[in-house]
Amino acid sequence: MTSKDRGILIVLSGPSGVGKGTVCKALRQCAPDLVYSVSATTRAPREGETEGVNYFFKSREQFQQLIQDNQMLEWAEYVGNYYGTPRKFVEDTLSTGKDIILEIEVQGALKVKQTFPEGVYIFLLPPSMDELENRIVGRGTESKDAIRTRMSVAMDEIRLMEHYDYAIVNDHVEHACSRIQSIIVAEHCRKDRV
Ligand code: 5GP
Repeated sequence: MTSKDRGILIVLSGPSGVGKGTVCKALRQCAPDLVYSVSATTRAPREGETEGVNYFFKSREQFQQLIQDNQMLEWAEYVGNYYGTPRKFVEDTLSTGKDIILEIEVQGALKVKQTFPEGVYIFLLPPSMDELENRIVGRGTESKDAIRTRMSVAMDEIRLMEHYDYAIVNDHVEHACSRIQSIIVAEHCRKDRV
């Protein structure tokens, strides 16, 4: 199989609260051919979240076993919980020629880049840091301490933007979605893929 027959791996990353999840949800409507990777996590489900749809919810022991069995393409510990991408689903999807998108935090994205340097790395930015804090507070799911931690992690993450191919400001979900779609179209038109 040549690289032309394989799907494109797209990583959508950026600080927590920037709206990656919302943008991905909107992308499901406007880009139905795109496959979405479902992550595993040790964090507790939030209201409305479903096993196998939002995440595969695991105990710490189960998660550590998956790491040991080399079943994770990448994983990271983030604000006290493990998050990771199951490897097989990503590899199977790409080998059937479909594009797959991973919505993950920055450390994990950089690990994926070591395995898939040919992937497309998109960094989602908030319109401002104040707006980012408003979004995390507005979600109403985090304690004051967790909000402070997430904001300080966010500052560190934004400094790593230089490792990405594209940066998109998430001012409006629809704009962010259409920019991501444009990037995917452009990537399919690269000389080395046609
Ligand atoms: P949340 O707890 O808000 O759902 O997610 C916290 C952070 O973990 C977000 O930045 C989210 O993108 C990231 N995340 C979700 N799944 C994965 C994953 O599989 N791997 C990594 N490295 N981060 C993930």
